[in-house]
Formats: sequence, structure tokens, C-alpha cells
Amino acid sequence: MSHLRDLYQEVILDHSKSPRNFSELCDANRKADGHNPLCGDKVTVYLKLNDGMVEDVSFTGVGCAISTASASLMTQAVKGKSLAAANELFNRFHGLVTGKIDEEQNLGELVVFQGVSEFPVRVKCATLAWHTLQSALEKAEGSISKE
Ligand code: ZN
Repeated sequence: MSHLRDLYQEVILDHSKSPRNFSELCDANRKADGHNPLCGDKVTVYLKLNDGMVEDVSFTGVGCAISTASASLMTQAVKGKSLAAANELFNRFHGLVTGKIDEEQNLGELVVFQGVSEFPVRVKCATLAWHTLQSALEKAEGSISKE
């Protein structure tokens, strides 16, 4: 168990030090800002939606290791997924970090945030990027392009 925990720490550290998809997406068609006042984390999520699919996704921002690593892993997890699949993943991830589910449930690498459920203060850090993604997706639903 503690070995597993070390491994999880390593993944989080790696993603916080060199976050993936950390840039503005110049051809994004959706964008949302998120802020976690408890910790001071700020994130902007950029989305390129095409035909109900997350064709591309990136983020920028400043925050603690957990929020940055979570945003980085989130972009990897939802890229190429349908909106429904991305929402579904968010629900499972939220269940994981709030301790409502304790199994992996096809979360892949996202399972590294399992330990966060023991630190309620950190849950907002881990879910910030996901909530921001959610609001970017909701904007999309309300404004379907007529092209
Ligand atoms: Zn934080």
C-alpha cells in the first residue's frame, strides 16, 4: 500500500513539475476560468469541440502541485472523448476523490488522486480543473453553432 502511495506521489509530482497540454489552445472554441479561493489555485481550460467530441484540450494557470497535476491528467484523460464520456469520467473522478467509490473503475492514471479523499481541503484542488472543464462544456451545450 505505501509502495503504491509512493508511486502515486511520483505521478502527481511529475505532472505538477512538467504539466502536459499546458498552453493556450489557439483554435479553442470554448474556454472557462476556475478559481479555488481556499488554496489560491487558478486554472483556465481551453477546449476545441467538434461534433460532440473533445478534439483538443489544454490549460494554463497557477496553483499547488495537486491542482496542476490534476489539470494535466484531466486534459490527457478527456482528449478524444465524447462530451458524454467526459462527463461520465468527471462523475467517477469526483466519486474517487470524495471517497464515494474506492475502486479504480476504469479511471486509469486518474486513480493517483485516490489519497486526496483523506484530505477534504485538497478535494477542491483536485477537482478544480474538472469543474472548469464542466463549465466550458456547459457553455457549449447552450450555444450550438449553426455552421
Ligand atoms: Zn490547491
